[in-house]
Amino acid sequence: MTNENVQCPKCGCTEFGYGKQGGYATVNANGKLNLGSPMMFVICTDCGYVLESYVTKPNKFKGTTKY
Ligand SMILES: [Zn+2]
Repeated sequence: MTNENVQCPKCGCTEFGYGKQGGYATVNANGKLNLGSPMMFVICTDCGYVLESYVTKPNKFKGTTKY
């Protein structure tokens, strides 16, 4: 990760932590019930602002549609 020079837009803090949301909070690929990926978060350790959020396995969402 290259977040060393990133500043929180909310409080100006430069210290960030990384959070992972997995288990039952996994984001499922739409229409593919058994496919999914945990979410990763880059969080300001001062005010809690989430700077980045992304799934760790984006390729699982290839070919999915809105409906
Ligand atoms: Zn902050």
